[in-house]
Amino acid sequence: MAQDAVDRFDLTVIGGGPVGLFAAALAGMHGMKTKLIEALPYLGGQLTALYPEKWIYDVAGFPRVLAKDLVEHLEQQARRYHPAIVLEETVDRLEALPDGGYRLYTDRAAHETRAILITSGIGAFAPRKLPVAGAERFEGRGLYYFVPPMQHFADQTVVVVGGGDSALDWALAASEVAKSVLLVHRRDEFRGQAETLRQVMARPNTAVRVFTEVRNLAGTSRLQAVELIDHKTKATEWVTADSVIAALGFHSSLGPIKDWGLEFHGANIVTYEAGQTSRPGIYAAGDVAYYPGKVKLIATGFGEVGNAIGHIRGYLHPGHKGGLPHSTNLKMGE
Ligand SMILES: Cc1cc2nc3c(=O)[nH]c(=O)nc-3n(C[C@H](O)[C@H](O)[C@H](O)COP(=O)(O)OP(=O)(O)OC[C@H]3O[C@@H](n4cnc5c(N)ncnc54)[C@H](O)[C@@H]3O)c2cc1C
Repeated sequence: MAQDAVDRFDLTVIGGGPVGLFAAALAGMHGMKTKLIEALPYLGGQLTALYPEKWIYDVAGFPRVLAKDLVEHLEQQARRYHPAIVLEETVDRLEALPDGGYRLYTDRAAHETRAILITSGIGAFAPRKLPVAGAERFEGRGLYYFVPPMQHFADQTVVVVGGGDSALDWALAASEVAKSVLLVHRRDEFRGQAETLRQVMARPNTAVRVFTEVRNLAGTSRLQAVELIDHKTKATEWVTADSVIAALGFHSSLGPIKDWGLEFHGANIVTYEAGQTSRPGIYAAGDVAYYPGKVKLIATGFGEVGNAIGHIRGYLHPGHKGGLPHSTNLKMGE
């Protein structure tokens, strides 16, 4: 169909973590019409979801860099080449087409491509949900797992749930704009940085309650109040809440990619020369890729992407012998 032909991409990158982002940059730089599909509403993979505020010391060229800043640089680098970036779609099904291309199905749409690079890391991320009956009724209407811009919480009464870095970071950020913030955690020890906890506790409009969980949510068209339970005393209390930010972490799963007929080593895809998998035109790089001696580091994934994109170039253009020219020899503009 004509529409299919228009929409067919040279390369589709599955997963917008650091490795997928660098792949999108390199593929675009070398002339491939590239699409990147990411399950979450934001890019950056583990760096954004698990440790945005941590320093990374072992990425080439940066003596140290905050995870979120590295993601920002990677995104800027990728966007120079205008890849199609699809967020909030999880790739689940693969169909081989008679002409050698592939059709990928997500939970929302179909995508056609000549080659595929799987950079799905430790799998598609999904937030751990608040274990409260009926909570889904308030998702996006006062209950947030992915936090909107902070201004959304201006002058609100906000409850943040969790004890890790994300919960502390969101509590601190929300306290800058909210009327008040209540941080509740079911233990009395926080996994997040002690310094961030100290800053949260020093905020005049912020309170912290330990051994406490959210037991109920209430509201008519949107959230208005939450019921808290203190595990030590068993006392319950309703408090006013315009918003609840549930920062309970993420779980990840490779999901149906396991059923694509690729060779696996445990939860990882076995790769051969230049990231090739056991199926033609399908490559893997980053944490998801396995070969003997593999070390799961961002730097390793970046190197694997270089090899894979060079090979994919040869795969897409059989006249080419593969490899990549130096970027210094390309006409790149500013
Ligand atoms: C706390 C912590 C600290 C770390 N510190 C360092 C460090 O200092 N230095 C270092 O080099 N490494 C560090 N790492 C490891 C590093 O984060 C990983 O090596 C890196 O994130 C791998 O990148 P990736 O792009 O391969 O995968 P990921 O970062 O896991 O990204 C994969 C992306 O693919 C998406 N995805 C998966 N499946 C699908 C699908 N079916 N459809 C659509 N999207 C999908 C996921 O949602 C995710 O966003 C650390 C890891 C952790 C957890």
